[in-house]
Amino acid sequence: MDKKYCAYICAGCGIGDALDLEALAEVVNDEMSMECKSHDCLCGAEGRAFIEKDIAEGVNTVVVGACSPRVMTHEFDFGQDKITVRANLREQVVWAEIKPAEGEEPDSEAEEYLMETAGDYMRMACTRAQKTEPADPYQLEELNKTILVMGGGLAGLTAAKEAALAGYSVILAEREANLGGKALGWRKSFPTAAPWTDLEENPINALIAEVESNDKITIKTGIEVARITGAPGDFGISFKATGVESEWDAPAKVTVDEQDLIDKGEKEDPNTGLQKYTEINPDAVMVGSVVLATGWKPAVVSQYEHLGYGTIDNVVTNAEFEKLAKEGKVPENVAFVQSPGGKENDNDFPYCNSVTSMVALKQAQYVCEDNAEGKAYVLYQHMRTPGHMELFYKNAQDNEGIFLTKGNVMKVENSDGGLTVAVEDTLLGEDITLSVDMVVLAAGMEPMTLHENSINLAYRQGPTFNDLELFDGYADSHFICFPYETRRTGVYACGGVRKAESMEEAVDDATGAALKAIQCIESVDRGVSVHPRSGDATYPEFFMQRCTQCKRCTEECPFGALDDDDKGTPLTNPTRCRRCGTCMGACPERIIGFKDYNIDLIGSMVKAVEVPEDDDDRLRIIVFVCENDAYPALDMAGMKRHGINHMIRFIPVRCLGSVNMAWIRDALSAGMDGAMLLGCTYGDDYQCHFVKGSEIANKRMENIGDTLSTLGLEPERCAAEQIAITDYDKIPQILNDFVEEIVEMGPNPFKGF
Ligand code: SF4
Ligand code: SF4
Repeated sequence: MDKKYCAYICAGCGIGDALDLEALAEVVNDEMSMECKSHDCLCGAEGRAFIEKDIAEGVNTVVVGACSPRVMTHEFDFGQDKITVRANLREQVVWAEIKPAEGEEPDSEAEEYLMETAGDYMRMACTRAQKTEPADPYQLEELNKTILVMGGGLAGLTAAKEAALAGYSVILAEREANLGGKALGWRKSFPTAAPWTDLEENPINALIAEVESNDKITIKTGIEVARITGAPGDFGISFKATGVESEWDAPAKVTVDEQDLIDKGEKEDPNTGLQKYTEINPDAVMVGSVVLATGWKPAVVSQYEHLGYGTIDNVVTNAEFEKLAKEGKVPENVAFVQSPGGKENDNDFPYCNSVTSMVALKQAQYVCEDNAEGKAYVLYQHMRTPGHMELFYKNAQDNEGIFLTKGNVMKVENSDGGLTVAVEDTLLGEDITLSVDMVVLAAGMEPMTLHENSINLAYRQGPTFNDLELFDGYADSHFICFPYETRRTGVYACGGVRKAESMEEAVDDATGAALKAIQCIESVDRGVSVHPRSGDATYPEFFMQRCTQCKRCTEECPFGALDDDDKGTPLTNPTRCRRCGTCMGACPERIIGFKDYNIDLIGSMVKAVEVPEDDDDRLRIIVFVCENDAYPALDMAGMKRHGINHMIRFIPVRCLGSVNMAWIRDALSAGMDGAMLLGCTYGDDYQCHFVKGSEIANKRMENIGDTLSTLGLEPERCAAEQIAITDYDKIPQILNDFVEEIVEMGPNPFKGF
């Protein structure tokens, strides 16, 4: 692209009052060789017209020095064929100025500090504009828009129905002979409407009929997925018969037996031991995206010997009791045990959730409905009845046949043809012993990912989702921000593989997953990324001639986007990629980059910062800020007018995983006095939008400390902090503490060299 630049600085929102815009324009003119204009309100209609006039006359690369790039995105969108770079002069310069406390004199150099900071942000933005190339979206040669739904239970049926109603062709694959899954065995379902007290008809049969009559849905029962190859928009699906009697005769061309698969595409990597599959079965059915609705299994409860499951007759799980209830075999006196109990144990059974509390209330209602003198005892540590289900709970409390108490269940024993249940520390303030006919244990819902290889991807990183243990086996990748997104782009989870949930929640879930599957296909069609960088038309490009086949990129990619050949050279799959840049951060050869985000670009931005020499009041600290949580938190700190130390310069990054340690080494070699990473929480309570980016970056930072020592620099000049989006009040202190440490260490000894 033959670039024609112009920079614009906004005088609105207090920027023009705080900064000398003429002097700032001179920095841009003289140092960056760009024309620079200012306007009273760039985001208004006149301001936009002011820029558009220049664009009409040939400007195609625009630098806007104004508010944060997180706001006014529409106002400063001049189209994909233009390059637009924003300098955050408002939230992170003018609004982040440290003001004197009441009664204190302002710092005599405060105005200079502010201008120096603004100058650096303009220098960095202009540099970024110079180094950015227009995106060239990746397009598949052939895109398939069919959606595969794995699992024909409530969630799968709903996803298939919703995707079909939206106009997409669906293949619904169910391993059993019939559709319906576990829901076929449920007698009633929870209330879904006011007054939130009455159990409702199980909707599963009506849903099956709806799906069966939809022409856009091809139903395949008695089969399961043998292998998934390829990438979003271009997945190849091989099926195999499960052996149960099927209503569908799987044609030979899409049936692959295990032996075929092993011969065709399974290899043992001699270095990593990871399996990899490189061949696409030529007979595979092609689909664009996949909804994973393979469900759950009741969690095992036999390990709680004091409860007697498996050793005492009439101790059953909640799922078993539901089937008895459907058959009309509900005894008169039933104890529902919601937690394993025992001394000092107030945990629930594994894989429980609010659904197991509500199931107990529903089943207690069956006891009273089916027996005039029926008594149900619900023994819990925690009752969870979210939203309107609180009214369902209250209704159970008002039912004379239902007795609810918190308590520790200590022992279940046979006694006189029945069972006794010993309970301690009840709400009544005393220990009780109940005589009942049956004990029902609230077994949780274990996701099928823990039981079967229910996805079987032909990916270099292995056939299932990585880090399953970290997620307790659930297929989701980020419960809070991106429900339904798994760690494999194009595969969207709903129902029991995503979390323990009620039928109503499963229906919501499945609708969401169907929408995600559609979004994915449409994003691939436009050549752009899915969440969280939705709409990003760039993708990582590799300069393979310099690849040393070290495999770091293929191993560290959180989404398994990269396969490799026999030598270990990466094989890219752009439609699997979420554009996090973790591969770029990992690559020691620095050969991975995006059109608008690469090693040279960020490295040049670092070098664009002016580093004063011999001035202890003007040390320079570069902070790489994750744009997902930490950057918005910084903006909010600005909005709240929390001052930020004038020695700091922020550079937003896609994810801390994308930070290549070369940037830090280069920054310190160039005389910067310190470097910091601000990113998401990791570990059990992880918040990273790219699953492991912040954790990987922290590991890399440990290593860079050693490198700095060999350079004769204190390792403490580099630090990494975990920030949540809600930490805007804490950020200034975290940064100030780091600045103080650097000031105490004194200037970087490489300064001036
Ligand atoms: S940008 Fe992220 S998702 Fe894409 S290949 Fe690199 S590490 Fe994987
Ligand atoms: S990290 Fe870089 S050098 Fe190593 S395999 Fe990947 S592209 Fe090649």
